[in-house]
Amino acid sequence: MASPADTADVRRHNTSLVLRQVAEAGVSSRADIRRATGLVSGSVTSIVADLLSRGLLVEPGDLVSTRGRPQRVVGLNSRRVVGLVATVVPGAVELEVTDLSGQPRWSRRRTYDERAHGSSALLTTLAEGLDEAWDAAAADRNAYVLGTVLIVPGTVAADSVMTDSIDLGLRNIDFQAELAPLLRYPHCLSVFNDGRLGALAEYQALPPAVSPHVMAYVFSGPLGVGGGLVLDNQLFRGQHGLAGEVGHVVVDKDGPECACGARGCLTLYLGTVALAGRVFGMPPEPSAAGEASRLLVAKANAGDERTLAVLADAGDALASAVSTMSHLTDLGAVVLGGDLALFRDWLLEPVNALAVSRARVNPRFWPKVEAARFGDRSPQTGAWLTLRERVLANPRVVPPMTAYTPR
Ligand SMILES: [Zn+2]
Repeated sequence: MASPADTADVRRHNTSLVLRQVAEAGVSSRADIRRATGLVSGSVTSIVADLLSRGLLVEPGDLVSTRGRPQRVVGLNSRRVVGLVATVVPGAVELEVTDLSGQPRWSRRRTYDERAHGSSALLTTLAEGLDEAWDAAAADRNAYVLGTVLIVPGTVAADSVMTDSIDLGLRNIDFQAELAPLLRYPHCLSVFNDGRLGALAEYQALPPAVSPHVMAYVFSGPLGVGGGLVLDNQLFRGQHGLAGEVGHVVVDKDGPECACGARGCLTLYLGTVALAGRVFGMPPEPSAAGEASRLLVAKANAGDERTLAVLADAGDALASAVSTMSHLTDLGAVVLGGDLALFRDWLLEPVNALAVSRARVNPRFWPKVEAARFGDRSPQTGAWLTLRERVLANPRVVPPMTAYTPR
């Protein structure tokens, strides 16, 4: 149990303690909060009053009886704070408005011409979409728009610059600087790599029995494989933010050439378009990857030899990459997300076969392999967790309702 801090920012810390307690425990009386946080009664009373004034807590009006005395309870007002989440994929931007409950309240997909030269088509579409999302969020006059998370399929530096995206064919875009003149609203924008956010979400969702010190998240989408590395609940970024980029672990040095400049990268064997291309003889358009992955699962279930052989190759590639990562970081768990979760039944066989052979020498050397809890929404869940944590860590970023100018 956390104890009250005796520091200069004691008020902020204790306010965070109280809000976090109610967010985790649900509807609570002031006495419940006092017992759980160790704060004295007067502090709890004044902090609860502060959080009520900010609209972060509400009094549902229920009375609970503790030792014969009825007490008023408070609960988290999930609708008070909303965040915008924008996901960039080749040719489209997916936008959502999410509140503290994690439920998307509004969503929209906008397409852009990915064949257009440079980044202007993407930036214009993104700016229009973000402003439309802001309008949707602000339609609830009591909702405070906390910030915007932009999820990109590329490496990111300084929470703003996408240094390189092979999927988008773009590099060195400073989203904060380049979007600012195009936006009508003052978006507080943070840019994250999709795999890193997915890794964060999946780490927090692992059951306590697994709860590893080191976890790798590996996911595949239409064009390739991404991922992230989490050490003790913290993203490990590495020197330049590249850590956990498992898609470009080399699994066959004589394999085909990869857009990253290497040969035989994992992404060439596990990306959905690449898998479908090997089975059908011609890769589908990335926009048809969803349909292609469903078809692959159906063919594998029907025992189609060609499909099973391609998936066995893909499983060997995955096993090789997991082995490399395990030797380097002593992984406790590997979580397979995106389309990899769909193909899990066929991919795991080679991974487990390698595990069995290694375990003969060192029984401790092998991570648990799990399917992603959030399916293909791990990155968006990670974005929501990031925004939620910003409020729980410092509830005073949300202004009091009375001082808040309704839009
Ligand atoms: Zn590569």
